[in-house]
Amino acid sequence: MTTTLTVVVESWRGTPAEASLAVLSQARRVADAAGATVTAAVLGDDVDAVVDAAGRAGAHTVLRVAGPAYAQYTTDTWTAALAALVAEHQPDALLLAATTYGNDLAPRLAARLGAGLVADCSSFELGADGRLTCTKYVLGNTQVVRCEVAEGLQVATVRTGVLPHADTGHGGFAVADGAVPAPTAPRTEVLERVVADSDGEVALEDARIVVAGGRAMRGPEGFDVLRDLAAAFGHDAAVGSSRPAAEAGWVPMHLEIGISGKKVAPDLYVACGISGATQHLAGMSGSKTILAINSDPEAPIFRTADIGVVGDLFEVVPALAAALRARRG
Ligand SMILES: Cc1cc2nc3c(=O)[nH]c(=O)nc-3n(C[C@H](O)[C@H](O)[C@H](O)COP(=O)(O)OP(=O)(O)OC[C@H]3O[C@@H](n4cnc5c(N)ncnc54)[C@H](O)[C@@H]3O)c2cc1C
Repeated sequence: MTTTLTVVVESWRGTPAEASLAVLSQARRVADAAGATVTAAVLGDDVDAVVDAAGRAGAHTVLRVAGPAYAQYTTDTWTAALAALVAEHQPDALLLAATTYGNDLAPRLAARLGAGLVADCSSFELGADGRLTCTKYVLGNTQVVRCEVAEGLQVATVRTGVLPHADTGHGGFAVADGAVPAPTAPRTEVLERVVADSDGEVALEDARIVVAGGRAMRGPEGFDVLRDLAAAFGHDAAVGSSRPAAEAGWVPMHLEIGISGKKVAPDLYVACGISGATQHLAGMSGSKTILAINSDPEAPIFRTADIGVVGDLFEVVPALAAALRARRG
């Protein structure tokens, strides 16, 4: 029997989450190699564009659950709808991006369905037996383990920022309305949604260039040089930070990168005054190119960096921004 992977696609006001689409495209790559099929589960109110994006990102079939009750994520409503979809379509594995909602939903769904869960994996593949094998970092990103749910439905969340951006060139997908019970009143009501300031034009997770600062920034105003460098790079750049800078309140907590913060994998990561602790590397070591600027030539970040500049960041960063602007004219 053909193995089916179902990917839950998050969206907000008709725009799909990039993290979900990246999982979907990876599921399609894995499925193509193993002769499996991929289904996307799209829940929301205004879902037309999301359904289309899910198909283009690799779903063979998109299961649509549309209605005002799904406009805003709540654990109860989504769990009930997805449990019904799983009961009807019997996928072999359910994959979600490890976003705030994915991290809330996956364990709830796994418990409801009596399934095993592998949380926060960084990659996954299908074995000859059609079972999903997940790879994940453990013990502060120092060890890698491969794990598999031994039997029954497998649920997995995939760390954000570690997979390549979604392929959007697929087509010829089917769309079906998921048969789910009428939603009952959820036990929680969302009164207001406050979108965190991204400190730039793009969200940290979606940025192709991340300029991050650490304890060496000395205070909130120290980050102005990083914002200026991000602006010099252009609209695809965002500012992030290490934990001490976020904990000190120099930047909002949602800009923290690392094992307990955001996971990013941009094309270019510029680490400014960041020593390179394993907990920080856990959130950014998948970046394609890492440029480290640090005054200490022995700083551990230089062991991970592709390009290292030994120097005072308050001199190097403005010079880099000026050089970028001069080059652009
Ligand atoms: C359970 C746990 C979870 C954690 N989670 C995270 C996490 O998610 N993310 C995270 O980042 N950390 C995390 N940490 C903290 C982590 O262990 C480190 O303490 C932290 O990453 C260090 O931050 P830093 O590199 O900014 O500061 P430091 O280690 O103090 O490094 C500052 C660097 O700046 C350099 N420097 C100083 N002045 C200048 C200058 N003028 N120009 C250039 N360079 C300069 C120094 O040489 C030094 O290398 C966690 C720790 C624990 C125990």
